[in-house]
Amino acid sequence: MVNPADPNPTERRTITTNVDRATAANAADRLIVALDVPDRAGALALVEALRPAVRRFKVGLELFTAEGPALVEELTARGVEIFLDLKFHDIPNTVAGAVRSAARTGAWLVNVHAGGGRAMLARAAEAAAEAARQAGRRRPLVLAVTVLTSLGEAEWRDEVGMVRTPEEQVGFWARLAREAGLDGVVCSPREAALVRRACGPGFLIVTPGVRPAWAAQGDQRRVLTPAEALAAGADYLVVGRPVTGAADPLEAARRVIAEMGSFEVENGQGGADVIQGIDAATGRSILEMLKAAGVYMEGHFLLTSGRHSRTFFMFSQAFQHPRHAEVLGRELARLFAGDRVETVVGPAMGGVILAHEVARALGCRSFFAEKAEGGMAFKRGFAVRPGERVLVVEDVVTTGGSVKKVIGLVQAAEAEVVGVGAILDRSGGMDFGVLPFRALATVDAPSYRPEECPLCRDGQPVSVPKAAQFR
Ligand SMILES: [Zn+2]
Repeated sequence: MVNPADPNPTERRTITTNVDRATAANAADRLIVALDVPDRAGALALVEALRPAVRRFKVGLELFTAEGPALVEELTARGVEIFLDLKFHDIPNTVAGAVRSAARTGAWLVNVHAGGGRAMLARAAEAAAEAARQAGRRRPLVLAVTVLTSLGEAEWRDEVGMVRTPEEQVGFWARLAREAGLDGVVCSPREAALVRRACGPGFLIVTPGVRPAWAAQGDQRRVLTPAEALAAGADYLVVGRPVTGAADPLEAARRVIAEMGSFEVENGQGGADVIQGIDAATGRSILEMLKAAGVYMEGHFLLTSGRHSRTFFMFSQAFQHPRHAEVLGRELARLFAGDRVETVVGPAMGGVILAHEVARALGCRSFFAEKAEGGMAFKRGFAVRPGERVLVVEDVVTTGGSVKKVIGLVQAAEAEVVGVGAILDRSGGMDFGVLPFRALATVDAPSYRPEECPLCRDGQPVSVPKAAQFR
């Protein structure tokens, strides 16, 4: 490809790591603030104070015992998501009943003790699905609590009387929970990495025991900073007193979110892909992988949107290697691991392999939409049912045209679009209304209307990248 000297260096931009919008949104999405207060008034005051930055909260035993399920319903009705942290641990029948009741509150996450055994775990998972179906609510995600973060190694051995080390036990319970059909585990951030290795992508890891660098340790022994926990593979961080006990909780929450995001920036691998985009096999970031695979090209290109650009991303170059496709799909899947995706749909051609790989990682199905008369249509023979939770994925979003058409198809079938995922966001700030849009990397690569294209003005021939004809 031609790569002429740049006539206007100040305008020249290349691939940059993703450190802005998507990163901030991802960091905020991953924070769960524990409502460590004794009553409804205190809980509502905190939720209202924090809502500009936080949308996920934890209701634990103290607050729930005081206020009951009505408070969870009330908070859920206000549009925040509730992690109902009651750690059920009893005989399978009793736990199944408790999970059914919890599911009817509209809680987003519920949990049970992994120590209750396989039958109890399996019954809990079934009960959540059943009750949600009957109540016409979303199924809550069911997590297994592993080793409490307040227990040190000595207490674990001498007082609980366990033979395995806490690390061994966490890995053992995480695998058991996965086999029993649970969605993930609650564990110390110190064990997040080993759970990720043991259970793979798409298995949720929620970690309490996180303290911002500027906060005191409190009674949690095995703590890490938010950045360290994310680096270890945690999907969600539970933070309590450093936020709720601060003089200005909103400011404290924003500091935690910034700390989560700044880890990504400082490590220079770009936004979401900073923490998630490391290909374990090679140690490379997503962006490095894309460059090495020949996805990222420079020249003068006609995009399918009709616009001209100096940069083009030929994803078929990456997807020709199943290993690359798998990593990209897996990393993108992780951004939606908490969204209970039932089906992944991608527009052909760019979204076909990606949708398949994301679905593989999420353990759900996928199919594609293709060009049809008057726009796009689902691949013949495929449909979504009303209420089905659908994730729309595309390799690179520029104008978002195909993605919007697929969103329209899903919504016309009365299914629910839970979000839009892309490997690269080169849209320059596109949004899809209220739908979360998450990309592995954001690229600052401007495109031009042909009549305003500086490359055309300089008389450089425009080329049509082969893959572009199909997108
Ligand atoms: Zn041009």
